[in-house]
Amino acid sequence: MIVAAVLFAYAALLCTLVPRLLRGARWAERAPRLGIVAWQAAGVSALVSAAMAGLALTVPTVRVSADLAQLLQACVMALTAQYASPGGAAAGAAGAVLALAVLGRTAWCAGGAVLRIRRERYEHREVLDLVGRVDPVRGVVVLDHEEPAAYCLPGRQRRTVITTGALRTLDGDQLDAVLAHERAHQDERHDAVLTWARTLARAFPSVPLFRTAEPEVARLVEMRADDVAAARSGRLTTAAALLAVAGGRAPVAGLAAGGSTAACRVRRLIEPDRPLGRARIAAGALTAAVALAVPLLVIGGPAAAASQLNYCPDGTPTAQVSTMR
Ligand SMILES: [Zn+2]
Repeated sequence: MIVAAVLFAYAALLCTLVPRLLRGARWAERAPRLGIVAWQAAGVSALVSAAMAGLALTVPTVRVSADLAQLLQACVMALTAQYASPGGAAAGAAGAVLALAVLGRTAWCAGGAVLRIRRERYEHREVLDLVGRVDPVRGVVVLDHEEPAAYCLPGRQRRTVITTGALRTLDGDQLDAVLAHERAHQDERHDAVLTWARTLARAFPSVPLFRTAEPEVARLVEMRADDVAAARSGRLTTAAALLAVAGGRAPVAGLAAGGSTAACRVRRLIEPDRPLGRARIAAGALTAAVALAVPLLVIGGPAAAASQLNYCPDGTPTAQVSTMR
C-alpha cells in the first residue's frame, strides 16, 4: 500500500506542480530542446507512476523464478492471500481500475490520433500531388497561392510545401531560413512530439500537466526549429522570414513556419541570443532523467526485496505472502 501511495502522490505532484514551474519558463526559451524534454519526462513519469500505482495495488509481488510451475503457484497464493479480505479485494479492484483507465485511455487516444493523422497526411499528399509542382532544386512542392505560407507534411513520404506568394515575398536567405525551419521539424520528428502531447491533453483534459504541456510543447517546438534556422541564416534574417509567412495557414497534419506563436518568436529572435550554459543544460537533463527513474526506483526496491523471499519453498500452503502495495 505504501508503494502505491508514494507513486500516486508523486504522479499528483508532477501533474500539479510541474505546469506551474515550467509554463512560460525563460530558461526553456533559451534551450527549447531541453524544455521539450522536461515536459515529456514529466508527462511520461506521471503516466507511468499512476499506472504503476494501480498495478501495485492490484498485483501482489511474487518471487521471480525460472520454474514456471513454481512461479504460477506463488502468483496464485499471493493473489489468494490479498483478495481473501474485503479491504484487499477493494484495493485490488481500485488499482485495476486506475491502471486500466490510465493505460487504456492513453492507448485508445494515441491509436486514434495516429490513425487520424496518417489519413489526413495521406489525403493531403494526394491533393499536393495533383495541384502542386515539384521544385527539384529546392526539394519542395510549390503551390500557386498568393498567401505567403510554408509548411511541411512530416512522415516517411514527407513534403515541404511553399506557396508562390512566399517565393515572391522572401529573398534567398529568408527562403533558406524557412526551409531550414521546416527541415528541423522533419529531422527531429516534431510531429511525433506534438502528437504525444496532444494525445495526453485529449486523453486527460482535466489534468493540468497535460493540458498545459500541449501549447507549451507546440511553442517550444517552433522555437527549436527557429534556432536551427537562425544557426544557418542568422537570427534577424529568420525573424524577417517568420514575419513574412506569419499569417500563412497549414493543414491540420502539417507544421507551419508561421502560426499563432510567430509574434513572440520574432521578439525572441530579435533579442540578444542568450543560450543556456552547458552546466545548466546538463543539470536539466539530469533532473529529467531522475524524474523518469523515480517510479522505477520506487517500485523496484520492494520488488527486488520481494524477489529474495521464497513464498513457497517446498510448495507448502503456509508460505509467506507480501504485496508490492
Ligand atoms: Zn514551424
